[in-house]
Amino acid sequence: MDDRTFRRAMGKFATGVTVVTTEFQGEAKGMTANAFMSVSLDPKLVVVSIGHKARMHDIVKQTGKFAVNILRRDQEELSRLFAGQLKEERPVSFDWVNGHPILPEALANILCNVHSSHVAGDHTLYFGEVTDIFMKDEPGDPLLFFEGKYRSIGQ
Ligand code: FAD
Ligand code: NAD
Repeated sequence: MDDRTFRRAMGKFATGVTVVTTEFQGEAKGMTANAFMSVSLDPKLVVVSIGHKARMHDIVKQTGKFAVNILRRDQEELSRLFAGQLKEERPVSFDWVNGHPILPEALANILCNVHSSHVAGDHTLYFGEVTDIFMKDEPGDPLLFFEGKYRSIGQ
């Protein structure tokens, strides 16, 4: 089977969009990821799947921690930035909580220590044990990704 067929089929599964962040050598580092899932309530575990070619892959291996920032509908530009799809770099302001850089306007910030990891093909599944969660009080719609395009609820 060719890669395009696989990606087209996987693109039929609508997801939210997250930016996985961590602190590395005193600086914030982020990567856009939609391969994110809630895993377990006891203990509280989530998982992100990170490609071996991504710089974030080795960084999370070294830092042993990450945060998952669930993007709101007006944060498409941040998603493109952290996917390396914008031509120019741009400054991003992070809040710092317990050594984690987090995106303050995200719908939710899920702070984790790496619980375990599992190499699966050309990606590694990083399971995170959740240590803190922050959420906005005001309601907000998520940024969605479907058929390789950004969408929003009702669109
Ligand atoms: P880099 O290429 O080093 O960084 C990515 C970008 O983020 C660069 O432009 C960099 O300048 C910017 N950046 C990083 N930190 C900062 C900072 N502190 N301030 C400002 N800018 C900063 N890949 C996966 O492995 N798993 C997934 O689940 C996944 N899902 C994706 C979902 C979507 C919707 C998209 C568009 C892409 C997805 N990708 C996924 C691909 C992944 O986002 C890109 O391959 C990414 O560029 C790999 O990041 P990297 O760690 O190599 O980072
Ligand atoms: P796309 O049309 O390639 O994505 C559709 C779906 O295919 C994604 O939601 C994901 O489920 C799957 N997918 C795509 N690339 C994959 C990969 N390398 N490994 C495993 N699953 C993958 O989306 P696009 O707009 O062309 O994506 C932009 C870039 O981001 C591409 O380079 C793409 O490979 C990458 N991306 C990677 C992942 C991932 O690694 N899990 C997910 C989404 C996008």
